[in-house]
Amino acid sequence: TPVIELKDVSKIYSLPFGDVTALNHVSLEVMPGDFLAIMGPSGSGKSTMLNLIGSLDVPTDGDLFIDGTNIKNLTDEELTSLRRDNIGFIFQQFNLLPLLTVKENVEYPYILKYRHGDYEGRCEKLLERVGLTDHLMHHKPTELSGGQQQRVAIARALINNPKIMLCDEPTGNLDSKTGSQVMDLLAELNRQGKTVIMVTHDADIAEYANKKIVITDGEIK
Ligand code: ADP
Ligand code: ADP
Repeated sequence: TPVIELKDVSKIYSLPFGDVTALNHVSLEVMPGDFLAIMGPSGSGKSTMLNLIGSLDVPTDGDLFIDGTNIKNLTDEELTSLRRDNIGFIFQQFNLLPLLTVKENVEYPYILKYRHGDYEGRCEKLLERVGLTDHLMHHKPTELSGGQQQRVAIARALINNPKIMLCDEPTGNLDSKTGSQVMDLLAELNRQGKTVIMVTHDADIAEYANKKIVITDGEIK
């Protein structure tokens, strides 16, 4: 079964001066182990689609299934827990919390999920998995390079062992060499079984994916 399925999904933003149709009757299946690139011009609906897939927003119309569950039938709390169990988020701006150390940033989603629990050693293992040494643990994000910060963000995204990694322009803030290294890491995580769904407008970056869709004016071409 698909890990993500959109069935005839539309997203309409109601604004004081009229409605904006950001997604227009879109259907899509993402299978376990896929590496999907979502491409398209600015304003075409890519972020809207990623926000829906990440259950940060809900469709106006149609059905969205995450790991087989129709999110229509869920309470806000159930949706939050479905998101925490299944999805790791990676952003262009890294979105690390600047006042927390690397270790605290990585552990944060785990603590949000379990409140307490045994996370001893998890951060060290995850940093190793993303290619960082654990002596960076007590540094603040601003003391790290962009590539290192994105690796920390990937470690944070992995801590609750999600099936799906959602990446919004993951290399958008990195030079091309550092960007390729981060993409190699995402490709490795994909080989290890993670489903990766990535928005990018960079055709070279999209080459890392095994499936591509192009959105234009809210529709998949
Ligand atoms: P992309 O990520 O491809 O640049 P978006 O999904 O951000 O495209 O935007 C698709 C369309 O929806 C655009 O016309 C945009 O202006 C509109 N839009 C996006 N988010 C909102 C919002 N929160 N409120 C109103 N309109 C929005
Ligand atoms: P943009 O692409 O417009 O710069 P971001 O990629 O920073 O926006 O964020 C995309 C969406 O994810 C926004 O709706 C934002 O509120 C939400 N978001 C940002 N950071 C996080 C986070 N750490 N966890 C969950 N959702 C987030």
